[in-house]
Order: sequence, then C-alpha cells, then structure tokens
Amino acid sequence: MLNDPRSHGLWEKTAPEPPTTSPLDGAMSADVVIVGGGYTGLSSALHLAEAGSKVVLLEAKEIGFGGAGRNVGLINAGMWVMPNDLPGVLGPVHGERLLDLLGNAPKLVMELIDKHQIACELERNGTLHCAVGADGLKEIEDRAAQWSARGAAVTLLDAAETAKRIGSDAYTGSLLDKRAGTLQPLAYARGLAHAAVKAGVTIHTSSPVIGTERNGGRWTVKTASGEVSAEWIIVATDAYSTGPWEQVRSEQVHLPYFNFATVPLGHNLRQSILPGREGVWDTKEILSSFRMDQAGRLVFGSVGALRNTGLAVHRGWAKRALKRLFPDIGDVEFECEWYGQIGMTDNALPRFHKFAPGVVGFSGYNGRGIAPGTVFGRTLAEHILGRLPEADLPLPLTSPTEPSFRALKEIWYEAGAQVAHFADARF
Ligand SMILES: Cc1cc2nc3c(=O)[nH]c(=O)nc-3n(C[C@H](O)[C@H](O)[C@H](O)COP(=O)(O)OP(=O)(O)OC[C@H]3O[C@@H](n4cnc5c(N)ncnc54)[C@H](O)[C@@H]3O)c2cc1C
Repeated sequence: MLNDPRSHGLWEKTAPEPPTTSPLDGAMSADVVIVGGGYTGLSSALHLAEAGSKVVLLEAKEIGFGGAGRNVGLINAGMWVMPNDLPGVLGPVHGERLLDLLGNAPKLVMELIDKHQIACELERNGTLHCAVGADGLKEIEDRAAQWSARGAAVTLLDAAETAKRIGSDAYTGSLLDKRAGTLQPLAYARGLAHAAVKAGVTIHTSSPVIGTERNGGRWTVKTASGEVSAEWIIVATDAYSTGPWEQVRSEQVHLPYFNFATVPLGHNLRQSILPGREGVWDTKEILSSFRMDQAGRLVFGSVGALRNTGLAVHRGWAKRALKRLFPDIGDVEFECEWYGQIGMTDNALPRFHKFAPGVVGFSGYNGRGIAPGTVFGRTLAEHILGRLPEADLPLPLTSPTEPSFRALKEIWYEAGAQVAHFADARF
C-alpha cells in the first residue's frame, strides 16, 4: 500500500479492490463521524447506517491501512488473559460480559461475511494453539479446561493428533478452538467497506483528521481540505492513531510482528501441512504463527520488524524455522514479506475511552482485533443508538495513561526478537 511492499504484502496482492473513495473536500454534516477505516470503524459504520444513522467515515490513508490490512488473519475467540483470570482483572461484571462477548465474536464476523457475501477466503475450521514443551502443554490444558467449563467448543488434542493436523511433530499437544477460523484480513476490511457504502455510509480516504471543535452541542471534525459536523465522534484509530488522539497510540507498547508468505506449495505439501486449514500459533514467549491462504501459500510469522538488520535476520530465521518444522519443504521461496505494529496494553486487555462528551472509542486489542474490533464496532453503534447505556458496556471507562518505559520496551522488543531469531536454530 502506498508503494511500500513491506506494509501489507500478500494481502494487498490478493485482496479484491476497495470501494472507490476520495479525500474529503468541503463541509458536510452527519449524525456520526467515524475516524479510522479498520475493523472497529467499518463495523460501527455499517451497524449505524443499517439502523438509519447518517455516517461519514474518515480514513487517514486507505481502508485497512492499519492493523486490519497487515495481520495474520486468525479470527480468535477471547483474549490472552486466561478465562478464569478475567473476572479478577476487570471485576466480575465486566469480566463475565467480556468473556461472553469475545467468545462469541468470531460468530459475528462469520455472520457478517455470509450476510454481505464478503469474498475474504474465510475458513471456519478453527485454530490450533500449539503447545511447546511441558510448560506449553500445561498452559493449553488449563485454557481448555477453563473454556470447556464455560461451554465453549474447544478440544484438547494430543501430540499425535496435533502432528497429523499440522504436518509436524514439533508440538506436545494443541487446543483446537472450533469457534475460530482464518480469513484474508484486508479482503475482510475492504468487504466491510463495500457493505458500509451500500448501507449508505460516506467514506473519505486520504483524509487524516487533524483537529476537532465543539460548537453548540455538535462537533466539527477537520481535515486539511474539509470538515464534518456531527453529534458523535467514534475514535477507531488504535495502534496507527495520528492527529488529535495520539494518546490512543501512546497508551500502548508497539510490538512489531512480521509475516512471510511462501510461493504456493506443491500438491503433496498441501496434503501434509495443515490439510484442515486451521490457523496456528504456539505457546512460546516469542511466538510463531502460520496458516495457509486459499492458493496454498504458507503464511509464517513471528515477532520482529523487517527493517534495517532485522530484514535479513528474520528472513534467515523464517527459512530455518520452516525447514525444522516441515523438513520436506526444503529451501522454500518467499513471495511476500511484510510487518506491522501490534498495540499492547499493560494488562493485555482492550480499552473503552470517552475522550469528551460524545467522543468514544475502543482500542488496544493486543494482536487479537479481527473479532473484537468487529464486535466492539457494533457495541459502539448500539451505544450511540441509545440501546446500550455506558453502564452495560463490556469494558469499564478508563482514561488513556502512558505505560512506564514505553519507548525502551519498544526498542527491547524489536532488538530482542532479532537476537532471539539470530540465535535460534544456530546454537
Ligand atoms: C502484524 C499483525 C498481526 C496481527 N495478527 C492478528 C491476528 O491474527 N488476529 C487478530 O484478530 N488480530 C491481529 N492483529 C491485530 C489487528 O490487526 C488489530 O487489532 C486490528 O486491526 C484493530 O482494528 P482497528 O479497526 O481498531 O484499527 P486499525 O485496523 O489499525 O485501523 C485504524 C485506522 O485508523 C486510521 N487513522 C489513524 N489516525 C487517523 C486520523 N487522525 N484520521 C483518520 N484516520 C486515522 C489508520 O490509518 C488506520 O487505517 C495483528 C496486528 C498486526 C499489526
């Protein structure tokens, strides 16, 4: 995107075209202005417009420019925090609400894809959270037990069944989450944008919001070449936030994450590696993830930024790690390589913010934004439509606060991943 082959990689190469849009030019009026064209903004826009609201969505660059166009495409159910720990972290009311909402969030994604016939390579075959060693196995056993006790469709698989599904015997077991799946992330974002436009939303791209003004109970949202007046503003800018809501970005620690997509694998490899097309990630601290795309490319990722020395280090590691996992893959060629920034919060949970009267937003999905962004977008729409009071929202209201040593932590993540990947499989 924007002539950078390492920003959106494979997803840009294979996604259907977005709707035709142009920069905001002149003055407009709406019920709601949405800032940000990722899953949160697009889902809010779609749900509001379907309920009859007049909506203008302003995107700084292009639809899916942020995490929505760069991610792995795992439609996860739930967060990193263990299900039984969540009520302790958020309090019992919000904890249970969030578990229920996020556990069912992949279902909403799949329903929207069906309803709006979004061509985004959806696979409904679940995800496999793969255990590395005895500690990893203990972690997924606990997770499986806790989700099962809540009636979730998860199953613990032993090492042999995991090896059959993955095509590698590297793991001591896995947690199959049948609620989850995979998709082509940019195609999903662009599909939501088409559906939103059809429902009546006006989308302006290349329109970064640079300021706001309050006049007589309404907001004026300004870009360099125009302005929109509205009663409500939804801030859906998350980790790529610029302009007036810089605090959304600065309350997060950015974790770089890359992906390499192989050339389409041959018939035999496609029969042995992920024949069921589940999405995978592992329990390592510097985790790896992989999934197939529709054409049989293996998309393999981990922590790190593909810039400066990181490019060669992570590329070399990815080749070695793939060969170790799947010896038959040989010296596989990469067709695309890209990376993005994941916004992490200090308790690994998302945030609900009210920046001013009538200015609201969710953010901070900790690398799990496809399903949460979609469901929180709908939640924001329901809140604005008066159907969901603040007291009934799935998260408590908090003020953005910058974590200590944020910049140092970001340097540490980027450099630490390079050191780990340089050493891994060499020493
Ligand atoms: C490499 C990577 C891998 C990931 N893997 C997964 C995964 O497998 N599964 C999963 O569920 N999640 C994953 N995520 C996380 C997921 O992509 C994000 O949580 C999700 O995209 C957040 O959606 P959003 O709509 O809130 O924000 P975004 O998708 O980031 O969209 C925000 C948008 O706001 C725009 N914007 C910012 N400031 C302004 C402004 N001033 N004016 C106008 N527009 C503005 C940006 O340009 C951007 O397009 C991953 C993220 C990354 C980076």
